[in-house]
Amino acid sequence: MNLVFLGPPGSGKGTQAKKLAEKLGYVHLSTGDVLRQAVADGTELGKKADGYMKAGELVPDDLIIGLIEEQVSAGKLKNGFILDGFPRTIPQAESLRDMLKKYQVSLDKAVLLDVGEDEIMKRLLNRAKIEGRPDDTEDVIKNRIEVYKQQTAPIVEFYKGESILQTVRGEDTPENVFNALLQVAQ
Ligand code: ADP
Repeated sequence: MNLVFLGPPGSGKGTQAKKLAEKLGYVHLSTGDVLRQAVADGTELGKKADGYMKAGELVPDDLIIGLIEEQVSAGKLKNGFILDGFPRTIPQAESLRDMLKKYQVSLDKAVLLDVGEDEIMKRLLNRAKIEGRPDDTEDVIKNRIEVYKQQTAPIVEFYKGESILQTVRGEDTPENVFNALLQVAQ
């Protein structure tokens, strides 16, 4: 089963996607993790992405699409994967559809982890105290939520149109969310 995970920042999709991939033996690819690593390593990609990430903006589509295409063309995304944090815009979703088709890889489900805005704000501010991620300050969090609403939420409709959308309620205990995800992910 090949999946994309959708959901606002703070929905828990990163944590859940990682756990689920471990349990099911799928490849987990988080674009946020790849970008943070690139920034830490000071690579060209990292240098280009850093400013956008600090501001809570999306990095340009071509950078991120190129990164995913490398993985698909190298055959690393094939039999069982979870994409976490990609796609995040309609052009990214369209590119993903086209490249998967080109390499004859299926996309079976788009799983939306649904969490309301108040809860997200609360969780992210709380995480800020614990992890100290540079994009977890109040202003940047607000911007990330706004960017999600404007640029990412429309892909929910895109996947509804492709008839592969599944919604899981994310406002529950991590265990219950995990179990609900397990039901749809295999
Ligand atoms: P969150 O979902 O909590 O915002 P992520 O770790 O998924 O966190 O992403 C962190 C940042 O990395 C984003 O705010 C954005 O700047 C960048 N990023 C990650 N994935 C993408 C993507 N697919 N397109 C553009 N930017 C991305």
